[in-house]
Amino acid sequence: DERARRSEAMGRDDTSELRRVSRGAYLEMRKKKKVEELRDEIIDNELIYGDVRQTDAEERELRRKKEIYDLVHGSASQDEGAGAGDYYRMPDAYDDAAKVDQGRRFSVARRRHDDDSEARGGKGKAFSEQESWEDQQIRKSQLQFGAKDRDHASEEYELVFDDAVEFVKSAAMAGTEPEDDELADEIDTKVTLQRELQDQRKTLPVYKFKDELLKAIAEHQIIIVVGETGSGKTTQIPQYLHEAGYTTNGQKIACTQPRRVAAMSVAARVAQEMGVKLGHEVGYSIRFEDCTSEKTVVKYMTDGMLLREFLGEPDLTSYGVVVLDEAHERSISTDILLGLVKDVARFRPDLKLLISSATLNAEKFSDFFDMAPVFKIPGRRYKVDIHYTVAPEADYVDAAVATVLQLHVTQLPGDILLFLTGQQEIETVEEILRRRTRGLGTKIAELVICPIYANLPTELQAKIFEPAPPGARKVVLATNIAETSLTIDGISYVVDPGFCKVKSYSPRTGTESLLVRPVSKPSADQRAGRSGRTGPGKCFRLFTEHSYNKDMEDQTVPEIQRSNLASVVLSLKALGINDLVSFDFMDPPASEGLLKALEDLFALGALNSRGELTKTGRRMVELPLDPMMAKAIVASERYGCSEEVLTVGSMLSAGNAVFYRPKDKALIADAARQRFNAGNVGDHIALLNVYTEWEQSGHSAQWCLDHFVQSRTMRRARDVREQLVALLERVEIERRSGAGDHDAVRKAITAGYFRNTAQRRRDGSYRTAKSWRTVSVHPSSGMARVDPPPRWVVYHELVETTKEYMRQVTELKPEWLLEIAPHYYQENN
Ligand code: ADP
Ligand code: MG
Repeated sequence: DERARRSEAMGRDDTSELRRVSRGAYLEMRKKKKVEELRDEIIDNELIYGDVRQTDAEERELRRKKEIYDLVHGSASQDEGAGAGDYYRMPDAYDDAAKVDQGRRFSVARRRHDDDSEARGGKGKAFSEQESWEDQQIRKSQLQFGAKDRDHASEEYELVFDDAVEFVKSAAMAGTEPEDDELADEIDTKVTLQRELQDQRKTLPVYKFKDELLKAIAEHQIIIVVGETGSGKTTQIPQYLHEAGYTTNGQKIACTQPRRVAAMSVAARVAQEMGVKLGHEVGYSIRFEDCTSEKTVVKYMTDGMLLREFLGEPDLTSYGVVVLDEAHERSISTDILLGLVKDVARFRPDLKLLISSATLNAEKFSDFFDMAPVFKIPGRRYKVDIHYTVAPEADYVDAAVATVLQLHVTQLPGDILLFLTGQQEIETVEEILRRRTRGLGTKIAELVICPIYANLPTELQAKIFEPAPPGARKVVLATNIAETSLTIDGISYVVDPGFCKVKSYSPRTGTESLLVRPVSKPSADQRAGRSGRTGPGKCFRLFTEHSYNKDMEDQTVPEIQRSNLASVVLSLKALGINDLVSFDFMDPPASEGLLKALEDLFALGALNSRGELTKTGRRMVELPLDPMMAKAIVASERYGCSEEVLTVGSMLSAGNAVFYRPKDKALIADAARQRFNAGNVGDHIALLNVYTEWEQSGHSAQWCLDHFVQSRTMRRARDVREQLVALLERVEIERRSGAGDHDAVRKAITAGYFRNTAQRRRDGSYRTAKSWRTVSVHPSSGMARVDPPPRWVVYHELVETTKEYMRQVTELKPEWLLEIAPHYYQENN
């Protein structure tokens, strides 16, 4: 209403306003960067300013820029006394109706409209008298701006003077206009963004096939959708379905993602495209974070969450459509879902199923779903030049950094995407790149470094999608989340060391670990393809062509064939699927793995000897945690310390980044950290101590700073804890505190993690129980420097870097093992 009134009063139609704002919004985005750029350029050139080598034109240009810069910053030639009030207003017609001559306002508005309809002809054509008058006025006001308030904003200005746009925008004018104007501008900006987004949607490859696709979906219950990454499968198809009325009967559309970050990021994007608030019509659901509401009809979720929902709603009645996205990734949960939804589809003819994949071997999915039709979205991929290293690289991190810098200084504009294996590696590379580019100062163009990995805070995740400012180059440091799950536009160069972290599991030894391994050929090809989305690309592989041909696997092994299946088996049992061998797996896991899982669950007390779910098992299923952690929490009831074990579990679930260690304060940080382990209580109790102290500090961020603790991790732990507390009530476990009885907590942990124990050997290394692996205490553990080292330990997980390390280690009394896990330890120990 307000907007309409304003529009009317200003005598302009909506279209012209939209265009106006469109431009404004765009410029707004570039505004800040522009000032910096200008400044750098002037500082750079100042050294040779006036040098004979400069042509007159160059010098004039520089002078002009300097003038502008000074104006903007009020640093030199400005007129201090230019009649400045407390705040400034543009002198012309745009802002406040009451204060401005109505006729002129109209003329300005008209002209703007004319300009727009004449295809922005205004730029080249001579200015009218009126315009040059405006020019003067605006320059005057600019002076005032510069003198007083750099934050003052006026988008309108550059509309009148296309030429001047760049620098006026850079005056960073924001803020002191009347509030309702700001509000209106904000609305305007939104309307425009919306239009731009809608235009963008139409450029995606899938758009052309919208009607065909909807028709196919109407005709078939199950469809396999195949399309190149970035063709719009994830963001568009659920919207098409929503628009086509698949949600009118109160049913939702589910779209699963194997990765947490992808679910969040894509949901945010789609909410934006639909012009709704995230969590309303469009939401996401990931473990420990439900961002949906009653209103939600398009729900992005991790595949693990849909699996969880199956437990409460085995026929998925609340969904009208289920899209299993990124099916080619063959994540363990997606694989299980494939079998489950296939079954549901048989007795729910109204349910639509879409299986979406980025790779072309869709026949396998089609076969699995009884020859379901395959809908191919023709890709648009440009040519990608592949470069290999001549010889193998000894250190791919070093090689990657060198390559990125080399590309940055030698290659034409275009962003770089570097694939790394995990958060730590990404942080290391980020730091090296920052240091090295800082050293180069202004000799090279700006390099904007954008990391992306699962634990990155949401605010920062969005950064990877923002275009780099003009003249700068963006380098995205990503895990293989950027392989197919997320599409980043504008990537021209891919740097691929050829490694990723994979979960690997040995059913024989029962150990699961994350290992850095070479990627498969299809993965390497997917990665290369990321550079050819918007134009021809280049991929720099940090391995030799020989190793591509000879060493890399032709297929990625489905996760289900290289994972500990305990969690999955537990869920299936809870769904009443007792006969696991005849479950409809697309690629059945090795029976050895299934057996091992059954054994483990039996040892944990989740299944009885007939393979049926026990009461303990039933409680464990309710907790969205690894069965070992779930068991520890269930067991805490017996030891009277559920509060403490819940805290330890929440801390462990919140991620590994509890402490930080700034290089310049490493020793102080280490000491601060060691304090939580006073008395060598072990890492589990140390985590408990951290949380307890943080809580006592009133969840203070300052406390975190003082103790080198990441407050983000702490907040996340608190969120996780709150949710677990609610679930505890559901499984009727009493909340009790063990009041400082550390052994009670250790016993409960051991009740879950008795498989993860190790014994010290003479040479100081440890050997894991039963699986006989040689392992060491991770250097980051508080137990790493304890002298003498404990004889027996229980650990949270194994990680392999240079050696195999135990992470989160606590001393244990061996007699507990017989008491706690007799099934496991009695016979051959
Ligand atoms: P697909 O699922 O087929 O790989 P998507 O639907 O994920 O394709 O992506 C389509 C387009 O949407 C991409 O080109 C990308 O630029 C854009 N996009 C997707 N997610 C985001 C996001 N979070 N922010 C900005 N743009 C995004
Ligand atoms: Mg996708």
